[in-house]
Amino acid sequence: MCSSLSFAPFRTGTFDASSLSKDHIKITDNDYGKIWDLSRCNNCTHVFANPCPSQEFIHNLYGEVEDPVYQEEAEGRSKNFNRILKSLDKIHPERGNLFDVGAATGILLDISRKQGWHVEGIEPSAWAIGVARDRYNLEIREGIFEEATLPKKHYTVVMMVDFIEHIPHPLDAISIAQKILLPRGTLCLVTPDINSLAARIFGQKWWHYRPGHLGYFSKKSLDFLLRRAGFRIVKARKYSWTFSLHYLLSRKPSLSFLLKNRVFASFWKKIPIKLALQDSFEIYATKEKSHESLS
Ligand SMILES: [Zn+2]
Repeated sequence: MCSSLSFAPFRTGTFDASSLSKDHIKITDNDYGKIWDLSRCNNCTHVFANPCPSQEFIHNLYGEVEDPVYQEEAEGRSKNFNRILKSLDKIHPERGNLFDVGAATGILLDISRKQGWHVEGIEPSAWAIGVARDRYNLEIREGIFEEATLPKKHYTVVMMVDFIEHIPHPLDAISIAQKILLPRGTLCLVTPDINSLAARIFGQKWWHYRPGHLGYFSKKSLDFLLRRAGFRIVKARKYSWTFSLHYLLSRKPSLSFLLKNRVFASFWKKIPIKLALQDSFEIYATKEKSHESLS
């Protein structure tokens, strides 16, 4: 990522990369612990799949993804997204154009639109785009961000929630975000923290170690990435996920008997649980003026 050629093995891969299917990269995939061969950069500490699948391969795979469980958790996800929008309120009380990268089924875009943002997004999964259209009357672009033609200096906010860990070239994507943002625009980034307590306690079984993740960031590598692309971090905090009890029980095969009874199952769905693992970064970074002349 920093173009250094000095790196060392970090973790040995635990699945056969040639068997990777669209089900492995679903957002709600629970095959934790399955990882690519990972290397760690000796300079910026970025951890990355090595060898890494090509952008084209990943794009095709995500195009086929269908993930109904994700949509069932819309309520929990809405809570997460509302927290983010509250933070953005303080930075941009005036509203404007908001672009969501990897918009999935449009949950975030729908909430943002209700709060006065003019929204756009891009997403490779045809299934997700269909859900966004049917359920929220949202038209999301089909495709991948790195190849899209987007207007420069146009957006007040670019959202990348759980996006950069899925792509082979994070610096490219962040640089594009810099170009399409207005001079004082903000990039909001959520991505797992590989140095978090949870990552260290769970080791190989950390829930973010999964086939869909090609890169893992630390505070140092994220700082590096953002500065290099022309951003300055204005706010950073740890991210806690909200899920329903039903979702969490369904992640754990030994507890799935609790979901057998339909009355109970719907009850569990109504109970939101905030996972205070704080093992992701939630970062707000503004476009640096000095960098603008370079682009
Ligand atoms: Zn590096």
